[in-house]
Order: sequence, then C-alpha cells, then structure tokens
Amino acid sequence: MFRFRRETYWDCNATSPVSKAVAEVVSRTLRRTGNPSSPHRASHEAREVLERSRNAVAAELGVSPDEFHFTGSATEAINQVLESVARTAGLPRRIAVSPIEHHAVLRKLDDLATRGWEIAMLEVGRDGRIVPESLVAALRSPTALVVAMRANNETGAVQPIPVLAGIARSFGALFLCDCVQAFGKLPLDLPGLGADYACVSAHKIGGPRGIGGLWARSGAPLSPLVFGGAQERGLRAGTEALHDIAGFAEAVRSIPARLANAAAVAAARDRFLSVLRILRPDLEVATPLSDAVPNTLNLRFPGIPNGVLLGWLDLEGVRVSAGSACATDDDLPSHVLLAQGLSAQAARESLRFSLDMAASARVLSRQAEVVLSALRDYFVGRSPALKLLLAANLADALADPRTLVVDMRSRSDRKLIPPLPGALLAGAHPWEPLPDLPEGRRLVVACQAGFEAPVLAWRLRKAGHPHVEVVVGGMVAWRLRRAG
Ligand code: PLP
Repeated sequence: MFRFRRETYWDCNATSPVSKAVAEVVSRTLRRTGNPSSPHRASHEAREVLERSRNAVAAELGVSPDEFHFTGSATEAINQVLESVARTAGLPRRIAVSPIEHHAVLRKLDDLATRGWEIAMLEVGRDGRIVPESLVAALRSPTALVVAMRANNETGAVQPIPVLAGIARSFGALFLCDCVQAFGKLPLDLPGLGADYACVSAHKIGGPRGIGGLWARSGAPLSPLVFGGAQERGLRAGTEALHDIAGFAEAVRSIPARLANAAAVAAARDRFLSVLRILRPDLEVATPLSDAVPNTLNLRFPGIPNGVLLGWLDLEGVRVSAGSACATDDDLPSHVLLAQGLSAQAARESLRFSLDMAASARVLSRQAEVVLSALRDYFVGRSPALKLLLAANLADALADPRTLVVDMRSRSDRKLIPPLPGALLAGAHPWEPLPDLPEGRRLVVACQAGFEAPVLAWRLRKAGHPHVEVVVGGMVAWRLRRAG
C-alpha cells in the first residue's frame, strides 16, 4: 500500500483547521434541540445562543449587532449585497470593482452585466494593490457601488480600503469590502474602514465551513436573497444553523491569539522564503511582503508548471494551492496574478503557500522544514523522473502504438471533453487504488486541468512503471490547443 508522510497543511486561505474548542461547541449545540422561532423554553435557549453568538462576532468586528446578520457563506453575503443594490430603484446602473476580487464577486457581476449593468474595472499595480487614481477616474461616471477586498486571497496583498472608501463616499457611491481574508489576520475595525457593507467567513479563522456574516451600515440598501420566515430580521429566511453560528462565535474567540501570533507567522514565512531563495535564486515573489497579511506567500518557480509542483508536494504530504480554491477546476491562469501584470505562463508557474495563523512558531518551523525538504528533493531531481507532455505533442504520442492514455477525470468532465480513443478510464481521484495497467506501455496520464494527474503519475512511477508522462494543463489544454 502507498504510504504518505504526516500532512503539512499550508492551504489555510482556502480553509483553515477547525480547533478542538470549535468542534466541541458545534457538536454540543447540534445535540441540543430547539428552534429559535418556536414558542417554548427550548426555543428561548436557542434564541439566547443565537443572540450571544451574534453579539460576540459583531463585537469583534466593532459593529452593532443590529447591523449584522448570519449568512450561509461569505459568497452568499456578497451576492446579497450585489442583488440588493441591483434591486434598488434610482441608483445608477454601474458598479466599479477591482479585477482581483473573489469569484463570488466577479461571477455575480457577470450576472448583473447580462441584466444591463455596466461594470467598470479598476487598475492594479505590479505590487498587487488597487490604484486609487483608477477609482477616481472610474467614478467620473455616476456609479452605484464600489467593491474592493481588504486582503487578497491569492497574494495576501492588503488593499488601501480607507482611501478607496473615502473616494467612493466623496462621489456618493456605496462601498462593499470583502474582509474574508483579512479576518483573523489583521486587526479589523469595520466602521473605521469607511465601507457601507462588509462580509466575513467563519472557516478562514478555524470556524465551521458554510457559515458567514454580513455587516450592512444602517440605511444602506438591503433586501433578502431568499424569502420565507422572518429569521435574521427578515434578511435571511430559513431556520438558523445554530451549531455553525455557535461555532463561528467560538472561533472568533481565537482572533486575539491569532493576531498576537502575526509576527511569529510573518517571521516563519520570511525564513521559509530566504531558504527557498538559496535553493531557487530565480524564484519570483508576487506577494508584497511589506504590505500583506502575514501568512500568505505567492511564489513563481520559473519553468515548472504549478500543477506538477503542486502534485509533487501533495505526494509528499504538503497541501498548498494554486490560485483560489474555487478556481482550480478550470485551466484559466489566476485572474489575480494576470491583473497584477504577470504573464499567463508566469501565473501557471505560481503557487500559494498559506500558513496557519493559529500555529506556534515551533510547529511552523517544523512544517517549513518538511516543505523545504520536499521542494529540495524536486529541485535536485530526487523525485522520480516524470516526463511532461505538452498538449501540443499529445497527437504525436497518440500515434505511438505503445501509448496508453490513463484518463482520470470525473464523469461530468468527460461529458465536457470526451475521452481520447482507446483511453483507460481510471478513478478521478489521484489517491484512489492504482488501476491495473499492462506492462511495457507508455502511460500518458491526463486529468481535466493538470492538477491531479501529476500525483497519480508519480504514484505509478513509484509503483515501478518506467514510462509515465503527464499532460501539462490536462484535457482542457488539449481542447484549447485543438480549438485554437
Ligand atoms: N472572498 C474571499 C476573498 C475568499 O477568499 C473567499 C473564500 O475563499 C470568499 C470570499 C468566499 O467565502 P465562502 O467560502 O464563505 O463563501
């Protein structure tokens, strides 16, 4: 059986480890019956948990609990604000937005664009920071809302929100600030930012997944996304997920310790980077280190497709990411890095390391050793040789009668792009038991977008298959190649 080392989880911007205290609160609350809307004692207790939790989260954000409600995610909170603005009569049908926002913002704006809204894109500098002058220029046309995040999820770049929100206010535009990646990493005083709306998410601070929150300044347009009961002051119908809400409040209690740990996390990040620079003097850093959240490092390793390095690290028990967690299902290079001026190739060679704000200096240092050792092994060629097959050369490989394509994609991916003739359809997850494969064949492993195939390919190499290749960029790259 294949064994892997203990996990080093450096993908905390995607989601963070849930603490024992949070898990206990979630489980305890879940076991208690009581709907806050029912007319009896159990309901009364449930209502108390709800309001106590709201008070705790609102206090951490520096806002009134009357202006804060729980949502199913930050994505939902963002959608609620954008939909509320869109429904408000009399506002100019124009929104200004930074191009480095999360897809929760950008995809909803695509939706509004199809409904006649004009979307103005702001500029981002090479340092990953939004250029305030571009907002001044954008607001010369009447604009309902400006959307900008406090900290970027891929690079960690902290944005000049008080400046941007001040500009928006002087032009009479509303302002939504996505605070998801700043929460628990930087001190957050929402009213001090000058925004009208802000959203947060519990699972980035060690809380449960699937629970978020929205602060809306009193008087800012706000309407429900879903209609039904009168929960959350009529702003979010549906019985409250009380266990997640209580877990969210418990996670918030960890924020002072997370913030107190910020210097240790930044020091671990910087030490990791300085050793890495010795191993790879050509690496490029997309994170503006002097103006970023402490836990995030976005690095380019020139000449190495990020899927390949991501796969190697995964094989070695190191979990990192490329782009935002929601973007890895397609082959588009990170929109954040492109907006920052990186080429598509540079973006495809970039990885995000995001450390745990709750980990001690000792744990971070031990984790850094593991990550560095795995990277060192790759750089010096101690990983088993794996041939990279460019999509452009796949047709030649297919003409070779020894070639067997191992297609490890989900059924839905196979519907989007049909399997190649004669391909062996393997399980879609690279950690599933290895498929039975004939000996003496040239194995070409293909996944959808190039992120899963390297792990399976390396496992096949370690299992003794001598000729294993992996399609860089996967079947999406193959289709794009044929289309273009
Ligand atoms: N905004 C940013 C910057 C994020 O990083 C994320 C999650 O990755 C979201 C919004 C969406 O948060 P949620 O997972 O709660 O929907």
